[in-house]
Amino acid sequence: MPQAKTIPFTRHPFADGSFKKMLIDGQWVAAASGKTFESRNPATGELLATVAEGDAEDINRAVAAARKAFESGWGRSKPYERQVLLLKYADLVEKNYDELSSLDTLDMGAPLARTRGNRQRVVGMLRYYAGQATALHGETIDNSLPGEIFSYTLKEPIGVVGAIIPWNSPLTSTMWKIGPALATGCTVVLKPAEEAPLSALRLAELALEAGVPPGVINVVPGYGETAGAALAAHPDVDKVAFTGSHVTGQAIVKASAGNLKRLSLELGGKSPDIVFADADLDAAVPGAAMAVFSNSGQICSAGTRLFVEQRVYDEFVGKVADFGKKLRVGNGLDPETQIGPLVSEQQLERVTGYLAVGQKEGAKALAGGARLTEGPLAKGYFVPPTVFANVNDDMRIAKEEIFGPVISAIPFKNTDDLVKRANATMFGLGSGVWTRDVSKAHQFARAIRAGSVWINCYQAMDPAVPFGGYKMSGYGREGGKQHLEEYLNVKAVWIKTS
Ligand code: ADP
Repeated sequence: MPQAKTIPFTRHPFADGSFKKMLIDGQWVAAASGKTFESRNPATGELLATVAEGDAEDINRAVAAARKAFESGWGRSKPYERQVLLLKYADLVEKNYDELSSLDTLDMGAPLARTRGNRQRVVGMLRYYAGQATALHGETIDNSLPGEIFSYTLKEPIGVVGAIIPWNSPLTSTMWKIGPALATGCTVVLKPAEEAPLSALRLAELALEAGVPPGVINVVPGYGETAGAALAAHPDVDKVAFTGSHVTGQAIVKASAGNLKRLSLELGGKSPDIVFADADLDAAVPGAAMAVFSNSGQICSAGTRLFVEQRVYDEFVGKVADFGKKLRVGNGLDPETQIGPLVSEQQLERVTGYLAVGQKEGAKALAGGARLTEGPLAKGYFVPPTVFANVNDDMRIAKEEIFGPVISAIPFKNTDDLVKRANATMFGLGSGVWTRDVSKAHQFARAIRAGSVWINCYQAMDPAVPFGGYKMSGYGREGGKQHLEEYLNVKAVWIKTS
């Protein structure tokens, strides 16, 4: 397997090993408890920063600040004011994008090729929401009551939003929460993931620089079971926007019951990716491989259940394995790296545990299959692209979310029960179909129960197109106009004019 160059630890202006405070009410402050936690580079183990560890008391302070900012003007700010601010913020994020993307690379391991490659998506998201800020509107609605009584709706910002995000794509996840809040006039308390909190703090710093008023965006790093749980249960939070695992999603649903706060949940997946023999197989090989290997498989919509038509199964799966073996694994800071480390020791244990499960279940690893322990990569949490062949629908590696660079390749002979098999999962986030047959493509696009269907491509995303789940992949959508509705209340106004 080719390995990317080892590169020495590069000091980053925002990850120089120093203490990072949290942002509450426009002020950088230590945790009330004085506690801190460490953020380390998963490729090398080196210390990036010591971070203020927020808990319930800090969440209380941040929610109070967000409420005050909402009530004292931001909640009634003018759309044009928010649009100008979002555009200014977008310019600043764009100007600092190289620094931000390398911060994510250091903090959670994804190769620069990926974090830098998301530039247009991250900046474009802010510009998209800027456009939406002046396009919000209610409706006038004809009613059938006797006499003269006029009815219309107002769209109002929902209030204080608790945003809880994961570590697998911190810049994108942060923007997907802050963008719609700024566009609609909500305020935010954001709890980044303990594994990768740094870019959210830097983005908040840039928001202040752009002129976002104090208290509109607050960032409280900390652990899920303390800071996250306090935010999810807080009685003065109007909505929680959560991205993460389905188990945590369930905990958040329960925690939200106290004040029946609104929720949007973007959870896990075990997405089917179906390759028909009539597909352009040369395009499908890299497509299906990178549908899983991108970000070392740490993407909730990864196409991990690879269904391949029997008559091309051996050839196709062999080519996917060869493709995987050629990918350069290494430190994400090397521009040549294609596959970085897993984010943490815990994640490494989870993924290698599934590698053992797959082998025990009788699947055959055509590529990868074990942690890399040679040379400098031994210091990081590196698992190479892995392709399991001879997988059947009942194996655990075909059913459970692994969240690592692991493909479970399953053969199919006839298409009669293929939709049923593809849908036989508790999740419904992503899905893929590779075929040259237009009818088949449309039939499957209809029949698959998932929030996104990619045909002859995978993981295409755009700020204007909604993304989210069916079934236990959650509810609510991020991206597109519907996303903003999640941050708005609808008020009906009646006026008797006779
Ligand atoms: P993952 O397994 O990918 O880390 P999690 O769902 O555990 O996914 O984490 C996603 C986010 O949810 C993180 O910010 C984490 O701290 C937070 N979190 C974890 N547990 C809870 C909880 N009980 N309540 C609220 N947030 C939580």
